[in-house]
Amino acid sequence: MYHLTRFVEFEASHRYWNPDFSEEENWRTFGKCVSPYGHGHNYVLRVTVYGESDPQTGMVINIKELDRFLKEITGQFDHKFINLDHPAFSRRIPTTETLAAYMRDYLEDRLRAEQPAARLFRVRLYEEPTLWSDVSGGEGNTMAALTKSFSFSAAHRLHSPHLSDEQNREIFGKCNNPHGHGHNYELEVTVTGAIDPRTGMIFDLVELMQVVQEEVIERFDHKHLNRETEEFHNLNPTGENIVHVIWNLLKPRLGTHLSRVGLWETPKNFFEYQGEDA
Ligand SMILES: [Zn+2]
Ligand SMILES: [Zn+2]
Repeated sequence: MYHLTRFVEFEASHRYWNPDFSEEENWRTFGKCVSPYGHGHNYVLRVTVYGESDPQTGMVINIKELDRFLKEITGQFDHKFINLDHPAFSRRIPTTETLAAYMRDYLEDRLRAEQPAARLFRVRLYEEPTLWSDVSGGEGNTMAALTKSFSFSAAHRLHSPHLSDEQNREIFGKCNNPHGHGHNYELEVTVTGAIDPRTGMIFDLVELMQVVQEEVIERFDHKHLNRETEEFHNLNPTGENIVHVIWNLLKPRLGTHLSRVGLWETPKNFFEYQGEDA
């Protein structure tokens, strides 16, 4: 079995508005996304298909064929005001996850009709580089994921209280420098769930951003993790321990929606935690 991933880009504007809500309720739910004139994004769509490789061509699907379907999608959205120009969104709210779910369903139908050897694995839609949705089930019973990324800058020193000074120096090397060193941490928080048709969302994005701001950014940004935070006073601030601590800080506020915490310590190191069940 082989997986193949292709990217396409399009630019479009949208607004969030539920005609069944009062004006006040729309503003409360969607904030500045309510503006009747819309605002826009450079979207990036990432599509992954899978299947067996054809023995004659050596391919799961000819990229030309996949591109034909992807062009049909970008043709529907590129340089459009989605709410007014796309009939499927005259009542549906064009959030990242709702758009990704629509595109997933459209592509699955097209592949099934014309390229049945290639099956759709996942659709990922980036509204911007720091916000994206992954959808891997059909709409209606869609379980979608929404990921938002955040950054904070902090100093730390890798040093374990369970080891001698010499062992610490040997294991952690220059990261054991007694005065510490620092990183621009890039944090990814993923929530999953069903899309609420009234809001088009899995989880209120404004609330998600507020929770991460309060629980993580305010606590760790521009701090020395070992010296200035309670969490790492006696805990070695490795990437593994940081994702676990952040998971525990977010879990009480995001509940079962929280599905993943990812952390780039540097552009070359990435850590991930999905709870004990995963
Ligand atoms: Zn937007
Ligand atoms: Zn470090």
